[in-house]
Amino acid sequence: MKKCLPLLCFLLILLLSACGGKEEKADSSGEIHPHAFTEWGFDATHHFMRCECGERNKVATHDTIEDDFCETCGFFIYAADDGSYSIRIPNAYGSIDHQMDFDAHDKLVYDWHAEYEYYDDRNPKHMKEYVDGVLQSEQTFLLCENPKNGDVYLAEEIYYAEDGSQEILQYDEHCNVLSVTMTDSVGEIVTQDVYTYEFDADGNCIHETISTNGIPSLEMFYQPDADGNFYPYHCIYYTETGEIESEFFYDALGNEIG
Ligand SMILES: [Zn+2]
Ligand SMILES: [Zn+2]
Repeated sequence: MKKCLPLLCFLLILLLSACGGKEEKADSSGEIHPHAFTEWGFDATHHFMRCECGERNKVATHDTIEDDFCETCGFFIYAADDGSYSIRIPNAYGSIDHQMDFDAHDKLVYDWHAEYEYYDDRNPKHMKEYVDGVLQSEQTFLLCENPKNGDVYLAEEIYYAEDGSQEILQYDEHCNVLSVTMTDSVGEIVTQDVYTYEFDADGNCIHETISTNGIPSLEMFYQPDADGNFYPYHCIYYTETGEIESEFFYDALGNEIG
């Protein structure tokens, strides 16, 4: 058998040199095709153009000038001392929409990507997050009515569990939670907490009520401390049937006083 090795090597060299200079090479499967270097490839230290067969072309080191951002491939590269690394790819709006974490052997261990929709003024409108291609969560942004609160605000978040159940959170433009809804795997509501707020003339929350499945479960009353910061001084907890279960009073430091 040993005698055959030089011949095999010779044949391989012949085969490789026959294709040398052209973009036509045997890939790992032994198939010969014209390489098409159409997509960016990368590892912790280099970027290159990649053929779908894995062949690399135009290999060059990342030119990270600042903040681990490579000007050439347009990726953020975070390399750890143990050889693992993370690649983050920003979209045209500057938001990271793809993150891939690799171990020290270039094996993909975490693949996160997001799909964004934007308003005409480039503010985010909608975002879906996926891990390994599986939808994890969605965020919806609405336009603020009061420009003081910004252009858009996070109005709804949905978290998807593996079993098909969902947690849905809604907010107002002051970041106050409006509702927290849990659904089961067929979309039926299991529990729903609805938050209502009362504000004073200056917009400070003075009274908050949480209702669970339509029945009040918690009430909190707020008042200002010596510095004008509002704190909950009175809390009322209700039973599942809406009877008062317990009631507490607090000082400005959060100590129970009765
Ligand atoms: Zn190829
Ligand atoms: Zn690069």
